[in-house]
Amino acid sequence: MDKNHLNNLQTCQICGVSITEKGQVNFSNGSPGTRARLYARVCKYAKRPECINQEPELIGEITAQDGYESGKGLIPSFGNTEPTN
Ligand SMILES: [Zn+2]
Repeated sequence: MDKNHLNNLQTCQICGVSITEKGQVNFSNGSPGTRARLYARVCKYAKRPECINQEPELIGEITAQDGYESGKGLIPSFGNTEPTN
């Protein structure tokens, strides 16, 4: 009900998302998520100083669910890339 909260909306130019005062991240598409999710999916890879979602205290704990679904397409099942040292 309190739309004034929108005054504290932060926008990350790098990641193209907006973050509310409460830490809800509004992705450009898909359902809203958390700073942790944003970090796990975007900021972690962006690694730009301009990114506003870089503070561990704000990001909090990143869980496996925050990243892209694990075990699907991320780990190649073909070709052995294990280091042999
Ligand atoms: Zn960002």
